[in-house]
Amino acid sequence: MNALVVGPSLLDVRLSHELERLRAADLYRQRRVIDGSHGVRLSVGGKSCISFCSNDYLGLASDPRVAEAGRAALTRVGTGSGAAALISGYNAEHARLEEELADYCGRERVLLFSSGWAANLGLLRALFGKDDTLICDELNHASLIDGARLSGARYVRAPHGDIAAIEAALIGAKERGGEIGIVSDSIFSMDGDEAEVPTLARLAKRSGATLIVDDAHGFGVQPAPGARYPGADAPEVYVATLGKSLGASGAFVAGSEALIEFLIQRARTWVFSTAPPPAIAAAARAALAIIRSEPDHQAQLARNIARFRAGIAALGDGLPFRLMASTTPIQPLIVGDAGRAMALSRALFERGYWVAAIRPPTVPAGTSRLRVTLSAAHDEVQIDGLIEAIGSCRLPPDTRR
Ligand SMILES: *Cc1c(COP(=O)(O)O)cnc(C)c1O
Repeated sequence: MNALVVGPSLLDVRLSHELERLRAADLYRQRRVIDGSHGVRLSVGGKSCISFCSNDYLGLASDPRVAEAGRAALTRVGTGSGAAALISGYNAEHARLEEELADYCGRERVLLFSSGWAANLGLLRALFGKDDTLICDELNHASLIDGARLSGARYVRAPHGDIAAIEAALIGAKERGGEIGIVSDSIFSMDGDEAEVPTLARLAKRSGATLIVDDAHGFGVQPAPGARYPGADAPEVYVATLGKSLGASGAFVAGSEALIEFLIQRARTWVFSTAPPPAIAAAARAALAIIRSEPDHQAQLARNIARFRAGIAALGDGLPFRLMASTTPIQPLIVGDAGRAMALSRALFERGYWVAAIRPPTVPAGTSRLRVTLSAAHDEVQIDGLIEAIGSCRLPPDTRR
């Protein structure tokens, strides 16, 4: 290395300018470091707090049985899989997890990916091309948006939850020809509301289109996919992740034999990527077994959601936010201005509650929010404490116009 001190590069000048702009707009993002386990009680820089912003909806990320299954596989198999699955990276732990997931989902086959991002990019790029049309809910997860764009297909952005708009888009797409896909989250990650999957499934079938549903926030929390979406209600292509309610990491696509065999040939994010660590698959198997044998966790989560909603409603009117209508563990409090959302998040953190402020570009300008996520692992004292803290927070006046 040349030790000469040189000035900032053109790149650094450009980036510093952009970072300054983000700071000035209250849109600058920073991480906090967690020491130790990622349970409900977190240690952040020596300070203990209760987390209300994790997607670990059932508390399985810190369940000792899940950790033990991972540890036993680590000891037996080692850390890395060493290669892509098509080369020599496909372990018996992966194969067993795929079989168990297919059985749980009531589908012929499952293919494991190393993340939900990889699954959505690989899937959409493999199934659709430039002659095709993808009809996408405007609030879809970023990975679905990027996957649809990467495919090169014509991108039709449907207003959120607007079935009539999707029907109209289907007619247009049929006139143009090519394959048609309808792409949607099942539970929208920033609003917590649900897509009408059975309606979409029937529409797709009637129009010769393929419905692709990403159930990252429903899998493990809602009833098993086969029971939730029986028969003609089922999306043809089902995606879910293992890093949320399963407390592990990775994702999968479930569907027909032909779909999975095709993805094995063509999903580039799968073909050209190292298979996930076998120990993670072992941990996910243990988590899936717990979900299947202990329905109490889902029931407890439902009780926690109801308790939170009732508590916020009991705070009455005149509060500087609005609780969105949501029956899922994602319970957003709309604040509006990004700076005020940050101030509220900071005030709660000082009181020992960590609730993330979600700002543009993740959500539309003027809809910055506190995204409260509930877990089966929260107890009543923690939930009541959060409600009380929210009720006692005073916001600075809205100075931005
Ligand atoms: C979290 C999430 C993903 C990304 O999954 P990762 O495994 O974290 O990469 C994809 N889709 C949706 C709807 C998600 O919420």
